[in-house]
Amino acid sequence: MSKLARRQFLQLSAVAAAGVIVAPVREAGASDLPQLSEDDPMAKAMKYTHDASTVDPSTRNNPAADQTCANCALIQGDDGDAWRPCQIFPGKAVAANGWCSVWAPKA
Ligand code: SF4
Repeated sequence: MSKLARRQFLQLSAVAAAGVIVAPVREAGASDLPQLSEDDPMAKAMKYTHDASTVDPSTRNNPAADQTCANCALIQGDDGDAWRPCQIFPGKAVAANGWCSVWAPKA
């Protein structure tokens, strides 16, 4: 390795190392995520809606009466947020008042 190439390598290594050290490590919050569209093919397949009250309870697989994304075991993020990440729809935020056919009770 020539002196110049070695110097460039060392400089790039130092820059890369500094970038790793100063890069903020944070979890994606719902505010960072685009809202899931009801027209998204995966959302349609899961019968996702922004408003759980529009779903006829008799069509649900699970008989629990009060089902919203906010009380689903698969919701993530912070209680009280209107839009939150969901394990079923990575990279998107779902409505806390929403619902889909994968709804599961919290343990
Ligand atoms: Fe909402 Fe749960 Fe369906 Fe996610 S899996 S969209 S939190 S009902």
